[in-house]
Amino acid sequence: MSTLTVLMNAGPWLPVPPNGYGGIENVIAALVPELRRRGVRVVLATVGTSTLAAEDRIVTFDDGQFAQLQRPYNRAAGVAAAHMHQVARELQRRPEIDVVHDNVEVWGPVVLSAGTGAPVLHTLHWDLAKHPALYSGFDGGGRVFVNGVSASQLARAPAALRAHSVGHVYLATPLATDADQRVRPPKGDHSVVLGRISALKGQHLAARLAHRVGRRLVLAGPIGPYHRPEDLVASGDAALSNPDVRYWRESVEPFVDGELVRWVGTVAGAERDELVATARAMLFPLRWEEPGGTAAVESLALGTPVIGLRRGCLPELIEPGVTGLLADDEDGFAEAWRLADRLSPADCAASAAQRFTPSRAADEYVALYHRILTRGADLPGNAPAG
Ligand code: UDP
Repeated sequence: MSTLTVLMNAGPWLPVPPNGYGGIENVIAALVPELRRRGVRVVLATVGTSTLAAEDRIVTFDDGQFAQLQRPYNRAAGVAAAHMHQVARELQRRPEIDVVHDNVEVWGPVVLSAGTGAPVLHTLHWDLAKHPALYSGFDGGGRVFVNGVSASQLARAPAALRAHSVGHVYLATPLATDADQRVRPPKGDHSVVLGRISALKGQHLAARLAHRVGRRLVLAGPIGPYHRPEDLVASGDAALSNPDVRYWRESVEPFVDGELVRWVGTVAGAERDELVATARAMLFPLRWEEPGGTAAVESLALGTPVIGLRRGCLPELIEPGVTGLLADDEDGFAEAWRLADRLSPADCAASAAQRFTPSRAADEYVALYHRILTRGADLPGNAPAG
């Protein structure tokens, strides 16, 4: 058993667990109960509407500030800054905190590396080709270390950031626990893309190919701040200032006929799990190097094979011909989609139950906490003790 006290910084954007969309928040919601089961005391820095149990909480905003992310920089920037300001001050007041596990993009390591005291493990959840101005000169001062969520993600990081890396931990989902024991519902006739609708995620390609291969497709996820089709309709052309809405209108919507291809908005909880578990495949027509792929891990756990383009973390998560098929181009993607039915849902669930459980992730994170706490000689940069 561990006697560590960890400040888990979940950030100001969404409650933990999130109500529907929220990759980082879903991962934290999966990890924290397993850490506590191992005797780790968790102080959760989050927003007031979070319901995740922890030993203590630092609450920075009454509710998630996700909608602020859609505002111009000079309106939105203060949110993460205000969150981190409060977290840093609380950290000074709480000498019992042994380790900070930070998940706040950019602001987390910047603020925390300026402080003193507990060492920091900052999990990089995003594409590391972003923020070159920060990452290419990053200096954690022997106290801030980083971990990735896949090897391919870390490979794209500038050398200065990689020099702080203690490795990668794959994303986990509670759905993976005993996934191989669960009774699975019969498959329907649809495939699904689960995630925010965005040019990076490539929903337009899946929507176009649905007509070519004659397969039913359900698109689930928010478009910018809009979670329900009726809200997007009600917003009219004002919504077009949002780049994700423009992508939807120009590139995806022309293929959405409400029959073969549908957008159902954000799905959550049992509805999301049912939609995914009854799908023949989850599609990843990626237009970027997907860093961690929460939705892919969830799909496998629910016994649904992954069909994707061969990029980002997918080659690490998917065993081709067993848990999914990866293609190099549009034709290959269409062919892989046609072949998805040959893959075994049981094999997908078995892989998730072995590789993507919160229990496994918690073991790996506890080992990393101890590693950075003892400032072991094996740390990157061979950080001196003290
Ligand atoms: N999600 C959801 N409902 C939706 C769309 C997405 O619950 O309608 C969840 C999905 O299950 C996953 C997360 O949001 O847990 C998206 O995380 P991912 O890492 O796949 O994407 P990103 O963080 O890049 O948006």
